[in-house]
Amino acid sequence: MNTPSPEFFAWRQELLESGIGTFAYNNVGNPFKDSPIPFNTHDFERELILNFGKLFAFPSNNTWGFLSNSGTDSNMHGMYMGRTLLKGRTGVIPKVYFTQEAHYSIQILRDLLGLETVFVQTLADGGMDANDLQHKLADNRDYPALVVATIGTTFKGAVDQIDRIQHVLKGHSSYLHLDAALFGGYLPHTAHASEVLYQSKSNPTAIRYDSIAVSCHKFSGFHRLPVYL
Ligand SMILES: *Cc1c(COP(=O)(O)O)cnc(C)c1O
Repeated sequence: MNTPSPEFFAWRQELLESGIGTFAYNNVGNPFKDSPIPFNTHDFERELILNFGKLFAFPSNNTWGFLSNSGTDSNMHGMYMGRTLLKGRTGVIPKVYFTQEAHYSIQILRDLLGLETVFVQTLADGGMDANDLQHKLADNRDYPALVVATIGTTFKGAVDQIDRIQHVLKGHSSYLHLDAALFGGYLPHTAHASEVLYQSKSNPTAIRYDSIAVSCHKFSGFHRLPVYL
């Protein structure tokens, strides 16, 4: 919550002076495909996604994403993809699993996507209790599971243990979305980076999650600054 450094403001000034804000850039469509509209954001989006992909140890030849309007919007797309893929694979609309510590937007998105919730208990630190998840999965074995784990819960800063969650998901049709809106921007730069890496260093073939949402206004202070762009 400190005031951003002078370098940050200098960078914003440089962007302003470069004339980057002179055009209305169009952001429609898949940034990894050509846009029919000359002034578009696709180059910026690809660079951003590939840089973040590297940070999260995504395979360099298999990284995809896009810039959205917010953490909420990114969680919506992650949950929407999970719902679509699971329904396509199994013919059954999944139930969505999350904890009471998940961000309130998850409950709104659950309603918008027409999903039934299975609440999972939390541990003392506010993280998802994987043992309880295992019991709840067993109670709902006829439904695929769309699990939303949080990397940095909004009030307690809990980091859900994704390896434990993946372990109990084995054998169940599932999709794991990470809401890393709060910590995703800086956790990869700390000694705790392994908590969010897509591939673990010790077992690079094991995929640890299906999608991740990262918010920039939570770690840059953008939300308190005038918008120049
Ligand atoms: C803030 C927050 C969101 C929502 O992000 P917005 O960019 O405000 O829509 C989602 N999840 C977590 C954990 C958050 O802290």
